[in-house]
Parts: sequence; structure tokens; C-alpha cells
Amino acid sequence: MSFEVSQRIVVVGASLAGLRAIEALRRLGHDGEIIAISAEPNLPYDRPPLSKQFLTGEWNDDRLSLRRQGYDDLAVDWRLGVAARSLDPGSRCVELDDGSRVEYGGLVIATGAASRALPAAEGLAGTHRLRSLDDARTLRTALASGGRLVVVGAGFIGMEVAASARMRGVEVVVVEALEAPLVRGLGRTLGELVAARHRERGVDIRCGVGVAGFVGRQRVEAVELTDGSSIEAADVLVGIGVLPQVGWLAGSGLDVANGVLCDATGATTLEHVVAAGDVARWLDPRSGAAVRHEHWTSAVEQAGVAAARLLGGPGSVEPLAQVSYVWSDQFDMRIAIAGEPASGDTLHVTHGRLDEERFLALMGRSERFVGAVSLGRPRLLSLCRELLERGATFEEAIRLVG
Ligand code: FAD
Repeated sequence: MSFEVSQRIVVVGASLAGLRAIEALRRLGHDGEIIAISAEPNLPYDRPPLSKQFLTGEWNDDRLSLRRQGYDDLAVDWRLGVAARSLDPGSRCVELDDGSRVEYGGLVIATGAASRALPAAEGLAGTHRLRSLDDARTLRTALASGGRLVVVGAGFIGMEVAASARMRGVEVVVVEALEAPLVRGLGRTLGELVAARHRERGVDIRCGVGVAGFVGRQRVEAVELTDGSSIEAADVLVGIGVLPQVGWLAGSGLDVANGVLCDATGATTLEHVVAAGDVARWLDPRSGAAVRHEHWTSAVEQAGVAAARLLGGPGSVEPLAQVSYVWSDQFDMRIAIAGEPASGDTLHVTHGRLDEERFLALMGRSERFVGAVSLGRPRLLSLCRELLERGATFEEAIRLVG
């Protein structure tokens, strides 16, 4: 059954995916009511600068809006600072934390992800996570005190915070249980290269060692490592990944194991309910596997498709076969990654050299082209993404990109 353009659409989660879905709904002619529900008190803002320009102090809040032209033209009823508590698909209602219930004709689930907690750090002053603007404000203030920062976890957030803190003159130690930083995003060889560039700029990176615990009763004083050593710390940033925000969907009948399961157009198993962004586990039509992406570009692309699917019904939109794309800014490095590089892939550098400021490296697994990493050569990466999309072989990719 297709959707009436005058029906009410409720969007839960008013951040990147929620906003881009709303924009697409209006663009596609939905003139009915739209209610956006957000646990956060802010209108949609952009998260990537929180670990970069906002943390270094280069930007303030006024640069974070996702819409320079404002929000009025979207005619949205924003319900900010109130979380959705549950979903009852039988009565087509979302229940909110303040006890109110909101009926929907169509529902967009865009509740994103939250940073994973390290239980030993919970409730200990001076320990931080970074997901929201509030988190970023607190961390930025903490860094101003100038004391040593220990970063637990050398993923994208950890390495970006390490770089931004160092740029502010803070002493930084990064602790990572795996053999190199960014192994999941870049593979070992390039992860070690990024580590070397951080070390040149004064970041102390310790890999292959975990956190055993924290010293300090009310406030963190030191981090104890599994090799028996300990590092004094004024502040600690825990950056150990994210979890999809699906708690409010318990009992709704949706499959929410590691994100809301949807098909390759964002449709869930409930009628007139779609999902997009970090919360969605999206079916990849090529592999048949459902994958949850945690990147800005995926959220934007999924939101557009899910909005069209909600309005148009089954068969109205082409399945979205996504090739993952993510960028990360650390010091003066713009690292951009397409596809899924992993340790053990064959690496072929087509432009520059690994010891140069700028290069492009392609990754192959057996005959397959599986990913590309660029340092300072973002344009070439869009060609790589196209080749990954159409399943080019490694040899073909080397020939066409090189
Ligand atoms: P989110 O942005 O997580 O938004 C979800 C919203 O839903 C939140 O406002 C949340 O409070 C709200 N919500 C949750 N539960 C409820 C509920 N029950 N009721 C109501 N509201 C709820 N990606 C890149 O590709 N490159 C980068 O350089 C990059 N840098 C990043 C830096 C930081 C510090 C962070 C945190 C993320 C970064 N990302 C980056 C990832 C990117 O920002 C995310 O992929 C993107 O924000 C996902 O958007 P989303 O709308 O799906 O989810």
C-alpha cells in the first residue's frame, strides 16, 4: 500500500539521517505534518567537527548547523529534549519519555548510535566519551586545563581527539589493545603509518596493551595497563566504538540485533516504518549480508532512499548498494577510505609513495578490489568508489586508477 502525502510522518532522532530524510520527504512532495523527536535539546548539528575544529577551538557552536538556511521552510514540529520510550506498531504510536504518545502514519527511525561505555570508567570524574555537543563542550573545557590526556582506543574518534588535543599543546598518550591504530578502518600497514605520523608530532602511542583499571576514587588520577604499567592522567577519553540506539524498540517486533534490520531501501519488517543512518542494519544487495555503517555519507545516502521508499511503497526505489566511504582529519592529514580495507590485503600504491605527504593506495584480496585509502588525494577516491560499486577486479582497478 503506498503512502498518502497528507499523512503524518514521525521522525525519531533529529540528527543527520533524520534531517536528510525530512528534507527528502519535502522535496518529494510530502505536504503532511512532520514531527521530529530528539533526545537532544539542539536542532540538528554536525558531529564530525566535534572531534576536530570544535575541539581545537577553531570553530564554535555557530559553525555546526547542518542547515545554513535555517529550518523554517521544512515546516517541522520539533520536539526536542524528549526521547522516544517505546514503539507500538499495533496502534501506530510512539510513546515518549514525558508520557505523551504520538501517532504516526509513517515512521522514520534515525536514532543513531551512542558511544560504548567502559564500565570501570563510569561515574569517575575526568573520564569522557565523545558523541554529542555536550560531550564535546565538556572535553574542550577539560583540555584547556592542559593536563595529560590518555585516550583509550585508537579508532577514528580516539585518533582525531589525540591529534586535536596535541594541536592544543596537550600531552597525549593513546592506548590500543590491537597491534596498530585504525586497524579496522585501514589495515595494519597503513595504521602503523598513521601511528608514525602521530608520533612525529609528539603523541605517545602504545599498542598491544589493554586497560586494566583506573586509579582515583572520585576523579581519575591514572590509567593502569594490562602490562603492569600505569600512566598518570588528568583526563581520559574512552573511544571504544559505538552501539546502535535501539533500546526504545524492544518489544516492537523489529529485529534490532546490532541495529534495525532493513532491506536495501530502508524498509523494516513493519509497514510504513523505515530506518536510516547509524542505527540501521541495511541489506547489501550484492553480498546478501545486512551491514551497519557508522559514517556520515552512508547516513545521508540511506536517508534519501528510505524517505522515497516510505512515500512510494514497495518497488518504488532502486536498492541502495553502498560502498562504505569515510574521511578522518588528523593534524594536517585528510585520510579518506572507500570500501573495506583489512590487514593482510595486498597493497598497491598508484600515486605518490607511502613515505610522502600524499598518496593513494589500492587494496586487493585474491583477485578482488576491496578498498582504497587516500592521504590528501580525495578526488581519486570517488573513482575508486565507482569501481568498487561495480565490482572491478584488483588488476582492472590498478589499470584504471593508476
Ligand atoms: P546520530 O548522529 O547518532 O543521531 C541520532 C540522534 O538520535 C541523536 O541526536 C540522538 O540523541 C537521538 N536519539 C537517540 N535515541 C533516541 C530516542 N530514543 N528518542 C529520540 N531521539 C533519540 N563520520 C565520517 O564519515 N567522517 C568523520 O570525520 C566523522 N567524524 C565524527 C566525529 C564524531 C565526534 C562523531 C560522534 C561522529 C563522527 N562521524 C564521522 C560519524 C557521523 O557523525 C555519523 O555517522 C552520523 O552522525 C550518523 O547520523 P545519524 O543521524 O544516523 O545518527
